[in-house]
Amino acid sequence: MVTWENTFKEIEDARPDVAVLPVGALEQHSLHMPMGTDFILAQDVARRIAERLPNAYLLPVLPFSNSQEHQDFVGTVWVRPATLAAVLEDICMSLRHHGIKKIVVVNGHGGNWILKPAVREINLNHRDMKVIFAAAGALASGTGQQEELHAGESECSRLMAVAPHLVKEERVDCVPVEGREFLDYVGVRKVSPTGVWGRATRATKEKGEKALEEGVARMVQYITETFKRLEEMERQT
Ligand SMILES: [Zn+2]
Repeated sequence: MVTWENTFKEIEDARPDVAVLPVGALEQHSLHMPMGTDFILAQDVARRIAERLPNAYLLPVLPFSNSQEHQDFVGTVWVRPATLAAVLEDICMSLRHHGIKKIVVVNGHGGNWILKPAVREINLNHRDMKVIFAAAGALASGTGQQEELHAGESECSRLMAVAPHLVKEERVDCVPVEGREFLDYVGVRKVSPTGVWGRATRATKEKGEKALEEGVARMVQYITETFKRLEEMERQT
């Protein structure tokens, strides 16, 4: 594995054929977790994935993405969906310029819906590219009621596993009665004044370690099998 800590010569000699791009976010994570939660987790997951792929180039995390639903909380910074799609395409084209045509996008923020159609467009417009979308957190269905969505048991447990010093002891729970789609209508603060959606008081480091380990194993298996299948398909044509 090579990363941004290597020189260009080291990357040239390693000739990585796949790049791993973590996409994070800078947004409120209630009273108990830091603004940087999503990019800390995305970077960690991306590193674990890159370490397990044969010859990967781990890219630095993209710290800003589509966090408009958190805009009522100070400190949150977002880029528009179209901006994120354009940045992703530019990154992929930069890598392609030097022959890195397999890219894994590790998404750490559930609100980045635009990444799916953006990945589709890059793949179908540039048939030599193989861009795979991987979700670091629980990227669940788009509408309806959900128990765990943001800064709750699942995400808090994972941050406790990765950066325990950044999680505060005092934690709050809130499971709004509204469906997830209300984030599209009114944003987070109207449905959860404390910014949490889930039960953070149930979070533990052990749960986080288990979820990360299993999630990464599943993603590595999916990525490996999908690249293999895509290459088979390419040879057949
Ligand atoms: Zn988050």
